[in-house]
Amino acid sequence: MESIVQKDRNRCYLCGRVRTTFNPLDEHHVYFGPARPISERYGLKVYLCHFGCHLFSLKAVHNNAKRCRELQADVQRIAMEYYGWTIADFVRIVGKNYTEETTWEKEE
Ligand SMILES: [Zn+2]
Ligand SMILES: [Zn+2]
Repeated sequence: MESIVQKDRNRCYLCGRVRTTFNPLDEHHVYFGPARPISERYGLKVYLCHFGCHLFSLKAVHNNAKRCRELQADVQRIAMEYYGWTIADFVRIVGKNYTEETTWEKEE
């Protein structure tokens, strides 16, 4: 399903940079790994700079756990609002509550 988070596919969701030949954007599934099909099904996806924000730099979401969790928490709030889910609904569907800061501090 199309992203419910981001309508403009030509700008990076995180830094706002425009898509160009030298700055390609990737579709990022906000909840990946085992939850990837859930992200696909509910449109929990954003567009990110392939190099800077997605994969390779120190701030890239697949390289920076803190930034990744911040994005997951933001998108959780957006998804709950969009679908009218409670936190319990979100946990049942996606598998985890990302907005509870104390839970992820313990894991790090
Ligand atoms: Zn970016
Ligand atoms: Zn990704």
